[in-house]
Amino acid sequence: MLDADFFRRWMAATAAAVDRESARLTELDSPIGDADHGSNLQRGFTAVRATLDKDAPDTPGAVLTLAGRQLISTVGGASGPLYGTLLRRTGKTLGDAAQVSEAELAQALRVGVDAVAALGGAAPGDKTMLDALVPAVEALDGGDFAAARSAAEHGAEATTPLQARKGRASYLGERSIGHQDPGATSSALLIAALAETAGE
Ligand code: ADP
Ligand code: MG
Ligand code: MG
Repeated sequence: MLDADFFRRWMAATAAAVDRESARLTELDSPIGDADHGSNLQRGFTAVRATLDKDAPDTPGAVLTLAGRQLISTVGGASGPLYGTLLRRTGKTLGDAAQVSEAELAQALRVGVDAVAALGGAAPGDKTMLDALVPAVEALDGGDFAAARSAAEHGAEATTPLQARKGRASYLGERSIGHQDPGATSSALLIAALAETAGE
């Protein structure tokens, strides 16, 4: 079973990964965006880490709901509301249980990812974060964190040959082809941090 501490450690591991990879995320956002994805997420997850250290919510649902709210209020770009919705909706779906199973987390994340698709109007193949998140939740089914991580990483890499159909990169049309999507790349970091926290 996974308790609030597990979810706090997942968010802290994500913040550490975003710190480590911030320059690369911004670099990926340069040719097909506005070169701010790394700094956007760094600002957001730094705030998430600080809030969770201060408030220490005591259920998994409350940890994710608070983290999502924090991202929405601190990240200016498209990715803030999208990641905020992912975490908030996943947290709301987990409810107020003190502990949740791996299977319950997998199910809740699927609801969260569906909410991201509804908010952004994107589907897999549109060269967005969904190209990492959708394969990840499919592979996670039941709680295989290592499989989710590799599915997310492959999904992010597979965005390179795609033409963007949502977000800023879509303004470039065919010129968006040949570049890995920054949001799919950061989504793979989020899922890798989950696998790391689960010890896989
Ligand atoms: P902005 O484009 O506002 O500067 P960021 O650079 O932080 O925001 O985030 C860009 C990422 O957000 C993209 O690489 C893409 O993965 C994701 N994104 C943008 N629009 C959408 C959307 N409608 N649905 C899903 N993901 C999206
Ligand atoms: Mg950007
Ligand atoms: Mg921006």
